[in-house]
Amino acid sequence: MIQLSEVIPELKSRNAKRIAVQLPEGLKPQAAKIAKALKNEGFDVLISGDACWGACDLSLDALAWADVLVHVGHTPVTTEKNVIYLPFQQDIPLEILESAVPQLRQYTSVGITTTIQHAHQTKAICKWLKDHGVNAVIGTGSSRTPLEGQVLGCTYASAKNAKAEAYLFIGTGIFHAIGVWLATKKPTFALDPFADGILQEVSADRLLRKRFAQIEKAKSAKTFGILLSSKSGQGRRELAERLAGLHENAVIILIREISEMQLRNLGFDAYVNTACPRLALDDQSRFPMPVLSPSEFEIVLGKRSWDDYIIDEILP
Ligand code: SF4
Repeated sequence: MIQLSEVIPELKSRNAKRIAVQLPEGLKPQAAKIAKALKNEGFDVLISGDACWGACDLSLDALAWADVLVHVGHTPVTTEKNVIYLPFQQDIPLEILESAVPQLRQYTSVGITTTIQHAHQTKAICKWLKDHGVNAVIGTGSSRTPLEGQVLGCTYASAKNAKAEAYLFIGTGIFHAIGVWLATKKPTFALDPFADGILQEVSADRLLRKRFAQIEKAKSAKTFGILLSSKSGQGRRELAERLAGLHENAVIILIREISEMQLRNLGFDAYVNTACPRLALDDQSRFPMPVLSPSEFEIVLGKRSWDDYIIDEILP
């Protein structure tokens, strides 16, 4: 649920007149409704129509037109002036946890992780599980994940901070659960509240096999493009510069939207991604050439062993 009423007093107290609104893809169909509600309050409204997958991609172009940018659906990952974050909260019924109890009880502690939509419920989830015999714990987040138990595809600090024997990820799909496993190397279970509600232990084996194949393929590459994002919360210039210094034919490429067409056209044999970490892990099938994470590039160059494989995270 989007609680627009929460931001209107704040907009008025800032004396804002022109409001830009940015919504993630899943919430864009609510743009007309939000615009109407803001107009009824006397504001001029501009909707950002560009794709948006996270608070790492603030629409600063829209903000240039407006007094305030209302960014919906995410918590902040950077500190930009004149941006107000409006979370989207989606309650999950706690009874869905019942199927998870027998397996989770086997562990001395279980770290609870979830995405932003459900992070307001982590304490209630923890209490419910404790009442049912599971020693559930929650880790503090980071500057990119300010809520306890919150994870992003680029940050698993709350899982690591929980220091649990096993983990439960509650949310859609298994990508984040695999990320928790890679970040902690501990048994990790996924519970999708909107699918069948069945607990699933995740394994990163399939993903790692695919990554190993890309690393092997990249060993014959002669040129490497180091992708440096120009998005507000994805640019890791120091990392890109360090990686570019590791190979004589590596060049930094400043880029905003990373597409197959752009990478083909740029013509490098392989790329190293310092933008959103999901790109290498989740989107490789979109690209005909290897798109490596920073640690994978180090493995290609013999500067890191496969046994030291680490998941790419954007650290504070
Ligand atoms: Fe999400 Fe990627 Fe942005 Fe992190 S960098 S917030 S995973 S889109």
